Amino acid sequence: MSEISVLVIEDDEALRALVGAALRRAHMDVLRADTGEAGLRALFASTPDVVLLDLGLPTLGGWETLSRIRDLSGVPVIVVSGRTSEIDKVRALRAGADDYMTKPLGLQELVARIEALLRRTGAPVATEAYDDGLVALDFARAAVRVGGRPVALTPREYRLLVAFVRHPDRVLSKEELLELAWGEPPVGLERIRLYVSYLRAKFRAAGAELPVSNARGFGYVYTPRRGPRDPSLGGA
Ligand code: CA
Repeated sequence: MSEISVLVIEDDEALRALVGAALRRAHMDVLRADTGEAGLRALFASTPDVVLLDLGLPTLGGWETLSRIRDLSGVPVIVVSGRTSEIDKVRALRAGADDYMTKPLGLQELVARIEALLRRTGAPVATEAYDDGLVALDFARAAVRVGGRPVALTPREYRLLVAFVRHPDRVLSKEELLELAWGEPPVGLERIRLYVSYLRAKFRAAGAELPVSNARGFGYVYTPRRGPRDPSLGGA
């Protein structure tokens, strides 16, 4: 594998430099961002192969940054945190991180983990848009069209819809939807039913039916009107 590019989102300048130097020694291309916002912009501008994300970021925090990365992209993410508790690791992995490393970072271990992650995940694909003929999403702008009409969704409704379109034609339990759309426990499972009903209402107001059906008490299934154009979104 050549020319692996790594986006390092880290507000600690010294650590950013140290990590950058270690990755370059391993012949990786390094992009650096000092805030979550800058990291998201860099993710779009440059589509890196791996993101290294510090959880302790100012303004747009690490968790929110992780959640927005997951709204935008399937890029492998290694979360870096000073917190060593199992609960934080579990939370990060459930929120879509692919790996978790604690500070102080072992730089050789970091390089090895990036390589291992890329072997496991293969080439990542940035997903910038989705369109199944009924639902069209522009992930960069968090903009939604239903049947060609713009529909204003709240952030929760938007993330629930993103969770559906990323996992078409399969049953998603309420627990899975909570993890996908909320990213953090604990909120009641009833929230899912409520937010699915909100989405239905917004779709109806746009003159369409939300293509989500109940799956015999297990959860919900999103059935695209036709196959997603972007196969990377299909999730097989
Ligand atoms: Ca930090």
